[in-house]
Amino acid sequence: MADPFDLVVIGSGPGGYVAAIRASQLGMKTAIVEREALGGVCLNWGCIPTKALLKSGELYETLGHLGDYGLSAKDRGYDFASVIERSRKVAKQLSAGVAFLMRKHKIEVVDGAARLEKGGAVPKVVVALKDGKSRVLEAKAVILATGARARTIPALGLEPDGERIWTYREAMVPKAAPKSLVVIGSGAIGIEFASFYRALGADVTVVEALDRILPVEDEEVSTAARKAFERRGLKFHVAASVSKLAKTRTGVSVAFEVGGKAQTIDADAAIVAVGIAGNVEDLGLETLGVTVQRGHVVVDADGATNVAGLYAIGDVVGPPWLAHKASHEGVYCVEHIAGLAPDNLAAPIPGCTYSDPQIASVGLTEAQAAAGGRDVKVGRFPFRANGKSIAAGETEGFVKAVFDAKTGALIGAHMIGAEVTEMIQGFALAMTLEATEAELIATVFPHPTMSEAMHEAALDAFGRVLHI
Ligand code: NAD
Repeated sequence: MADPFDLVVIGSGPGGYVAAIRASQLGMKTAIVEREALGGVCLNWGCIPTKALLKSGELYETLGHLGDYGLSAKDRGYDFASVIERSRKVAKQLSAGVAFLMRKHKIEVVDGAARLEKGGAVPKVVVALKDGKSRVLEAKAVILATGARARTIPALGLEPDGERIWTYREAMVPKAAPKSLVVIGSGAIGIEFASFYRALGADVTVVEALDRILPVEDEEVSTAARKAFERRGLKFHVAASVSKLAKTRTGVSVAFEVGGKAQTIDADAAIVAVGIAGNVEDLGLETLGVTVQRGHVVVDADGATNVAGLYAIGDVVGPPWLAHKASHEGVYCVEHIAGLAPDNLAAPIPGCTYSDPQIASVGLTEAQAAAGGRDVKVGRFPFRANGKSIAAGETEGFVKAVFDAKTGALIGAHMIGAEVTEMIQGFALAMTLEATEAELIATVFPHPTMSEAMHEAALDAFGRVLHI
């Protein structure tokens, strides 16, 4: 007999497990199906373990210039296996934390791979359990939160093999640190791994098909990021599309073309970080007639698919492929299913890259605002004029704030520098509250903090900058 649930969630990443918790809070009898580890890619193979790696890299790098702070230490070294082990431990701890949350909220966790089959009013969820048996779950609603995986390019001739050609997954757990590395793609994944391995001393080259690195970021931030990374020894080729990968005796050879000239780089390993593809396979979507476009499930504003009772959220529905966007959609979707009328779906979604220096942004870039025909007022403030940054020896980078010239509304903010990923939320909150320059200028920012640069950027946009 099938089990009756109010809601079955397929996939336990930050989209799925947060949706399940919200459902339980709303009194829904909820089950969550997971074929791998609770927490999905984010907690196990993405956001969290990479932050652990990056912390090790950052500390190691800092040890290299302790003299700047009047300090010294005898030896600088690392044990790569321990660096990796710490990152895995952190991932495990977080995954266990999700298990605790599921128990706390009385959410039934079903270990296995789910498939949808035609049922009554709502598709049935058939789970191939890990012990070889199967179980049928029936529910009033089903949410697909199956996430995404690394996109690969078969035309390159070699697929990621975990040995010399890595996706983010293998790049997180190699047996040894590569001495040389080529990173294909300069999005958040490529740049974070480039930053980590460079910090540990590898010779790292990033090859990007578009004409600038971090191409989704504001152009000024892209330019500043490239300079900052080059100061740390990273090498870049832009407008350079990788066309071929080949094995060499000890590593890999990466072929690409820049300005019509063919080039190759040999390295110990290559990371393919060219975007991601939705996990839409083996779910029975074709049989049910669920609309899937370019590898992603098509949904309406409430997360509903074209099949009654079937919803989808997070990476599997498309960009931006970000954990916090998945959680946000999950909560919204569950509240909609519960008959509430949530109205916060359009909240701005910040983006963060945890390299050294960090990059963070929310809303429109200056170019996007101009392309949309908006008159803008733009303010900037460099961290080299910020007291706390000078005291901390972290003066690289700046804050840029973009306002609508007519209404004064904050429509975008862009930052590069130390810990800016912890600050962007101030601007995200301001945008959610539809703040104008008046509220930002009237807000008191604590002194001394790097966040004062946010205040100054707003002041600068309106000709009132104080400290420069
Ligand atoms: P991405 O789409 O952000 O970047 C991929 C880059 O690869 C693009 O700039 C593209 O132009 C380039 N590219 C594509 N084909 C190429 C080729 N043949 N040769 C050279 N360059 C090529 O993808 P990603 O970095 O893999 O990340 C995937 C998703 O995961 C993104 O949406 C990202 O935002 C998200 N993510 C976010 C974080 C974070 O928030 N810190 C971390 C990791 C991943």
